[in-house]
Amino acid sequence: GDQINEKVDYVFKVVVIGDSAVGKSQILSRFTKNEFCFDSKSTIGVEFQTRTVNINSKVVKAQIWDTAGQERYRAVTSAYYRGALGAMLVYDITKRQSFDHVARWVEELRAHADNSIVIVLVGNKADLVDLRTVPAEDALEFAENQGLLFFETSALNGDNVDAAFFKLLEEIHNAVS
Ligand code: GDP
Ligand code: MG
Repeated sequence: GDQINEKVDYVFKVVVIGDSAVGKSQILSRFTKNEFCFDSKSTIGVEFQTRTVNINSKVVKAQIWDTAGQERYRAVTSAYYRGALGAMLVYDITKRQSFDHVARWVEELRAHADNSIVIVLVGNKADLVDLRTVPAEDALEFAENQGLLFFETSALNGDNVDAAFFKLLEEIHNAVS
């Protein structure tokens, strides 16, 4: 669970990437503030948010970076990836194109991030079941082939958001300890 007033054992930098409008900023505010903002503007300025949690009995501060509207191909700079131990790669289960671009985002990570970076693929907006265009099976197959973790989430109702981050942080901890 959440830990406060304790010494921090680890700080893990995590980057959130994926096409524009898939829900990256909402996933981040759901995880760090348990909020969903209905009239949110597209991301401006804010670089990262943090949440301190207990992982394998250690106090881990997750420092999670959000792209400031730089989702165009190749616009995200190397500085954004520098020092990142984890990446959350988000697509929208109702937008096929955002899933078709996932392979390109993985290439970006392989080119710019550390080789040992742990990646979780996240299909967001799972609450919009009737509008689904990306079968979970397709995403799971891709994730398995690429060695990625996989979750479907809803930033709107909160489903699986904590689960996806906790699994990612656990895998990072396993890799560094
Ligand atoms: P970003 O550009 O990837 O940061 O996307 P945003 O977080 O700004 O979200 C883009 C749009 O999708 C906004 O209108 C959000 O309200 C909406 N959205 C984000 N997450 C969800 C979700 O889980 N379910 C639904 N139904 N809408 C969402
Ligand atoms: Mg955003």
